[in-house]
This record gives sequence, structure tokens and C-alpha cells, in this order.
Amino acid sequence: MDVALRIADEYALDSAWAWAFPAGSLAANVASSTPTVKDSLSALALSIARLGHRGPDAFPTLFTESSSPFATHQSASLFPRDSVVRQLVSLFWIAYAGSFLLYWSVSTASYYALFDRRLEHHPRFLKNQVAKEIALSMKAMPGMAALIVPWFVGEVRGTTLLYDSVEEYGATWFKGTALDGYGPWAYMAFSVVTFMVFTDWCIYWIHRWLHIPFLYKRLHKPHHRWLVPTPFSALAFHPVDGYAQSMPYHIIPYILPINKFVYFGMFMIVNLWTILIHDGDMISGHFLEKFINSPAHHTLHHLYFTCNYGQYFTWADKYGGSYRPPREDLDPIHDAVKNMERKRKLAEKEAKQALREQNKQFSDSSIDGDQESDSGYEGSEAELDKKSEVKVSHVRTISKDESSDIRRRR
Ligand SMILES: [Zn+2]
Ligand SMILES: [Zn+2]
Repeated sequence: MDVALRIADEYALDSAWAWAFPAGSLAANVASSTPTVKDSLSALALSIARLGHRGPDAFPTLFTESSSPFATHQSASLFPRDSVVRQLVSLFWIAYAGSFLLYWSVSTASYYALFDRRLEHHPRFLKNQVAKEIALSMKAMPGMAALIVPWFVGEVRGTTLLYDSVEEYGATWFKGTALDGYGPWAYMAFSVVTFMVFTDWCIYWIHRWLHIPFLYKRLHKPHHRWLVPTPFSALAFHPVDGYAQSMPYHIIPYILPINKFVYFGMFMIVNLWTILIHDGDMISGHFLEKFINSPAHHTLHHLYFTCNYGQYFTWADKYGGSYRPPREDLDPIHDAVKNMERKRKLAEKEAKQALREQNKQFSDSSIDGDQESDSGYEGSEAELDKKSEVKVSHVRTISKDESSDIRRRR
């Protein structure tokens, strides 16, 4: 996050802060006046603005003044770069903008590229569900960003065990052996495995505890409105629910030294994973499904509530007795397709009925009139069938191709 903050400062936020809170405005007020209430308030505001300020070199610019492609305004704001208040505000906007962009880009791509739109015909798919999922996600995002910001501030202020250089840990591992020199990479691999085991285990239990009725009713229920979720439901939850499930990711850099770029990568990957396991694709029969908590497992969690609470892997669910393997017959696409067929038949019946009534009116008016046309026009059953087929063309027919497509999903 420190790199993200520095880049944001360099290219946008230095200018924004300098424009909104120019340096010297309050300082001049305090320095030039005899003490009054107003001056005391100015002095207080100034000390809040400088809270946590460690000096001009604490947060250096990425570029020197002369090499920067953008004019730097680091010293032009009342709030220096290392002001805690400024960091809280800046990181809030970075977290909010980051989750906003990630949500819209990845969820949209997943919805159009991976999600099977026939699932929208499932009997438990809500009316306007996608719009409802997006609305709840938009509502949750600022609250979620506000809750995680203190962790990010701690991170950029160096209170975690995150480290920059690969060589910092593991340099002495394998000293004097044939693997001498590979220690730092071995440590990095160790830290990634530990990271994944820790977060997987913690997220399993946090998610499971969120299903305790007291917490479920207050926090987790909004995310389970979607019995058949779409990728837009990934962030459609109560902000405290999302925050609780992200806690292991914020705690681990305080207890395990981990390279900060690896950490950032893992943080991005889990966000992508969270969206992808909501794409509803029930791939079953693959040997990896025994180990990986896939979209199929999470689809079953949304349908049956008390199974498959895990994150990346299934081991915690197996340990906790909540593992439910995906099976072909549990795929919600079957009910969705049945419902489509039912709707198609209903629409066909209604269309036939409407045509019959129309024909009846037509023949009645012919008899009433010059009685010219009594040739059975539009009256035959075959003709009715043909016409009603056209009328119901807006309801997708389950063709042989689609049936085989269902089978291909396995
Ligand atoms: Zn749940
Ligand atoms: Zn979910």
C-alpha cells in the first residue's frame, strides 16, 4: 500500500491536497497573531494536520523535482504526506476506488464471459437480482473501505513485518550447502504457504461463525439473499461481514514477515477469487474439486447455507465436517432449464389461446358481414401451432444443442 500511496500522491493527491489545504494558511495565522480563541483553534487544527509528521524525508517522492513528469506539490499542502489524517483520507479513497474498479471490471467480465445467463430463469433467482446485487455492493463499498483503512495506515507507517528486499529473510538458510543462495526464495515460498494456510483456516471459521443465528441475522443474511448468485453478488454484503472475512489478511503481516509485493499480489488474488467463485459454474467431476473450493462449492453454499464455508481449499471444510462435494444433479442449471421450459410452454399456450380468440372474433365478424371468407383461413390447428411458435419466440426453446451444452458444463 505504501507504493500505491506514493504513486497516488505523486500523480494526483499532492496536487489535490495542496489545492484543498494550501500550506501556510493556518501557520501564518498562528504565527502572526497575538493569542486569541481563533488562533488557538488554528494551532489545534495545525497540530491535527501535522499529526504523525516525521519530517520532510519520511515519505520521499518517487522522482526528484527535476525528473518528475508531474510537478510535485508535496510541501505545498498544510497536510504533509506523512500526516496520519492525510493518510487516512488518501488511503480511504485509494481503497474505495480500487474496490470500485475491481468490482466493475472483473464482475462485468465474469458475468458476460463465465456466468451462464440461463441461471437467471432459476425459480429462486430474484426479480431484478443483478440490480439489487449492484445496489448493495455500492452501498457496502464505502463502509468497507473506511473499516480497513486503519490497517492500511499501519502498513504505510511501517508497523507491520512487511519487507521490501527479497534478501531480507532466509539469507542464511542452506548456508554452506548446494542450495546456498536460494534461502530468500525458500523463505518467500514458506511465507506464501503459511499465509495461505493461515488465511484459509481463519476465513473458514469466521465465515462459519457468521452463520451462528445471532450474527447471521445481523451481518451475513444480506449476502444470502442470493440463492443463485451472480458475479455481481461477490461484494453484495453488509460491510462488517466483508470486513470480518478480510481480517486475516490484515492481521497476518503483523505476525509473519512477508515480502510486500507478494502480500499485495495475494491481496489482489483473493479479491479476484471472491468474484470468480460467484460465477455459478458447477464444474463437477474434476479431480481438483476434492482440494479446491471452486465456484461449484460456493454455489452449493448459497443454495444449502451450511456447507462449503472455505476460501481457496476444501481441507478446512473437511476438517469441520461441512464439506459437500459438487455433484452433477445438484447443479441449479437443471431447475433453471426446467423453469425456462415451463415458461415457454405457458407462453405457447397463452399465444394459442389468444390466436383462437382472435380467429373466433374474425369469423364472427365475417358471418356478420358479407360472409365471403369461410375458407378455414387461420383456423387449422397446424396453422395455429405455426403462428404460436412465432409468438413465443422471445422465450428461449431448449434445443438439443442447449441440452448437450448442459452436459458440457460438467
Ligand atoms: Zn455464508
Ligand atoms: Zn458468496
